[in-house]
Amino acid sequence: MSNLAVKLTDIEQAALRIEGRILRTPFAHSVALSERCGVPVGLKLEHHQTTGSFKLRGATNAVLSLTSEERARGVVAASTGNHGRALAHAAKSEGSIATICMSSLVPDNKVSEIRRLGANVRIVGKSQDEAQVEVDRLVAEGGLVMVPPFDNRAVVAGQGTLGLEIVEAMPDVATVLVPLSGGGLAAGVAAAVKGRSPRIRVIGLTMDRGAAMKGSLDAGRPTQVEEVASLADSLGGGIGLDNAVTFEMCRALLDDVILLSETEIAAGMRYAYATEREVIEGAGAVGIAALLSGRFGRLEGPVAVILSGRNVDMDLHRRVINGGVDPLAEAAAWR
Ligand SMILES: *Cc1c(COP(=O)(O)O)cnc(C)c1O
Repeated sequence: MSNLAVKLTDIEQAALRIEGRILRTPFAHSVALSERCGVPVGLKLEHHQTTGSFKLRGATNAVLSLTSEERARGVVAASTGNHGRALAHAAKSEGSIATICMSSLVPDNKVSEIRRLGANVRIVGKSQDEAQVEVDRLVAEGGLVMVPPFDNRAVVAGQGTLGLEIVEAMPDVATVLVPLSGGGLAAGVAAAVKGRSPRIRVIGLTMDRGAAMKGSLDAGRPTQVEEVASLADSLGGGIGLDNAVTFEMCRALLDDVILLSETEIAAGMRYAYATEREVIEGAGAVGIAALLSGRFGRLEGPVAVILSGRNVDMDLHRRVINGGVDPLAEAAAWR
């Protein structure tokens, strides 16, 4: 673990840097899931974070790590929504301004929220990669400073602070279930919890359609996948063919990656609402979905599950909760 791009000490420093600027979110014991799984299950309620997702941790750490001259030039990112929202908020809080580039697949509720937070929004192309081309142009021609959604050491260190809070709330945790897309959250959390206790298992969870990190881990190198609609829209997008941080960290630190179907993700959202009384988006539901799916042969407890975000269109949420709909068609209709 000594040659990882982000180490436990980086994450501990990030925790000090962002303290007071982000919420220390609650950690709740789930009686229902514990009974169902036969081991203690705790839920890290990170969807209660300011801006509705954990992304504020990484964005805040990244903005605070810039020089004042860099902050004055403004920050820019490509984002499927939650990173853009977090960066908009973090930039505004620290007297900077964010420009957010995103693909036309991003739901309208996320776009308008980012505008409301005071950022400039640019909608470009049909994929995260096309939006990234616009980011590169603004960096080259406009002098803006890029803060990427996941493949950046300060961002990963910021997301890792979530792992420190989990170990403090559940010192004997044996398994941590982490939503996985570009791998910033999983890399940071894994570096944090394994830094504290190497025996803790960290399992990444993602959708079975267009899972870029899973495809890349299987191929042994960063690989492009086709982007498709999913209820877990925050898990969409590639990991970047020139990935410098998260691919190697996920390869070194993740014990397993489990893929969930749209039906399973919908079931996770429904369970969170009906049983835990929590509104979570599809990406935030993959941990609960995996526990409900019965895919774990032997689940080593205690288990901590990260509920990573809640930024779902409420009409879509209502339809998923009411059930009787085809989750695939729902995802496609809302893209
Ligand atoms: C970004 C995001 C993820 C995935 O995080 P990565 O660092 O890209 O792996 C999971 N859940 C939510 C709600 C997100 O916004």
